[in-house]
Amino acid sequence: MKKNLLIIVSGPSGVGKGTVVKILMNDKSLNLVYSISATTRKPRANEVDGKDYFFIDREKFKELINNDELLEYSEFVNNYYGTPKGYIDKSLKEGKNVLLEIETNGAQQVMEKMKGKGVISIFLLPPSMYELENRIKNRRTEPLSVIKERLDKARKELQLKILYDYNVVNDTPENAAKKIAEIIKENLIK
Ligand code: 5GP
Repeated sequence: MKKNLLIIVSGPSGVGKGTVVKILMNDKSLNLVYSISATTRKPRANEVDGKDYFFIDREKFKELINNDELLEYSEFVNNYYGTPKGYIDKSLKEGKNVLLEIETNGAQQVMEKMKGKGVISIFLLPPSMYELENRIKNRRTEPLSVIKERLDKARKELQLKILYDYNVVNDTPENAAKKIAEIIKENLIK
């Protein structure tokens, strides 16, 4: 029987999740759709509402929680992030594979809730801690205080890699995406 998957991709800030996910989303053979999260974080200069995130205020976020519209949610460096349920249910029913790019706390909630329902989890690792620190520090999109918090958080998140079905090193985005694509295909025929 044909089945479809809910694919969780996590990894610390600066590991390059965005680039890897973009390559995966362009691979039509994977039949993937991207779950757009809601967040209370302010958009960065290059981000588009409804494409990168649904940018909402705290009030609206609380409403989503109270109306049980989120599959999971979490606070990350002073902002809330959550996965809207409706789109996931609809996409899975349509036979698509859904990719969630979420942090470790939310990932654990999804692993728990969707146990046995075709969920696979992948943790993206940096080639080294040195490289990760450089990437976070060289990001010009956040103030220094936020960068420091994200670095601390990254160190903590890395310890949770053991909770995931797969660990993939992002040596280059192309290699990492290729490995993840193989993992997805393997699981589709399992
Ligand atoms: P950023 O602010 O850099 O876009 O995202 C910060 C962190 O939040 C990243 O680790 C990202 O994977 C995670 N994230 C994005 N969307 C969601 C979501 O819907 N739920 C959870 N739990 N984390 C998310």
